[in-house]
Amino acid sequence: NICDKNCYYCGIRKDQDLADPEHRPSRFTIPKRQIMDAAEHIMDRHWPGMLLQGGETPDEARVDWLADVCKSIITRADEKEQERPEAERREEPIRIILSSGELEKEQYAQLREAGASRYLLRIETSDHALYNTMHPEDHSWSRRLRALGDLRETGYQVGTGVLLGVPGQTDAHIARDVMFLRDFDVDMVGSGPYIPAEGTPMGDPYNLNPPITQEELMKKTRRFLAAVRLSCPTANIAATTAMEALWPNGRELAIRSGANVCMPVVTPQVYRDEYALYEGKAEVKGKESALWDTIRRLYD
Ligand code: SAH
Ligand code: SF4
Repeated sequence: NICDKNCYYCGIRKDQDLADPEHRPSRFTIPKRQIMDAAEHIMDRHWPGMLLQGGETPDEARVDWLADVCKSIITRADEKEQERPEAERREEPIRIILSSGELEKEQYAQLREAGASRYLLRIETSDHALYNTMHPEDHSWSRRLRALGDLRETGYQVGTGVLLGVPGQTDAHIARDVMFLRDFDVDMVGSGPYIPAEGTPMGDPYNLNPPITQEELMKKTRRFLAAVRLSCPTANIAATTAMEALWPNGRELAIRSGANVCMPVVTPQVYRDEYALYEGKAEVKGKESALWDTIRRLYD
């Protein structure tokens, strides 16, 4: 949860260190050993992928560290795959998906080389002007768009998406977001409702005067997911944790609307509590088996 950026909506933004003590996250990096334990959990279940997400820290040492983690996960997954009966083996024993923000193209290439094959970087909104209302001046929509292009050129499967229900966003914005995803020909979509984080520049005014009810936001997100499914028929569309934080069984509703990917959270609880991008995120438990049963049932 260490991040150099200051997105107005995010509970782990850099300046959150200056907020009231109750909203100040303790900064951490999950030690490699614990990431490997989480990877082992995923491999034991033969889940197809692992998403590693964190704040944006583009310095060389951090990227080197992340590359080393990716390599170790791939090596271990290859080993475990060899232990499986031949019929069960997969061509790609584990797919590593990264979500570490805007990095230099060479850094994306370094991580690709280390074994990561997908990258999730939300454009947050396809509207340049709306983007500017959600970020400080030194955050750039064009830079973000360029990063998405760099990722594609570096050979990643690229995932992107938007925040739904942010103040000032109209249905016309959302319609253009859907067309943006279609035109970019995304491989993966990660989009979800905006949920206020206390002590942030966007969260506090929102809480005082919520522009939309939770039920309306849930419905808006479902309509968006359905429109994206129709516009991007082959995309992997995530049923996000934010959907579950917003509404009971939110991820199931997302799957019923067009999403087809679910990512149980395997982060150790101590770190989950401090990775509070928004209110209620840490409380969304893996509920792995129930989630798995739901997906099976829906696909059957
Ligand atoms: N630092 C990386 C990855 C971590 S943030 C990045 O920004 O790309 C991952 C996503 O969390 C962001 O893209 C944003 O859309 C989402 N997020 C942040 N604050 C949120 C909030 N208050 N409500 C819902 N989603 C939020
Ligand atoms: Fe950092 Fe990502 Fe949060 Fe922005 S959304 S402050 S880049 S963690």
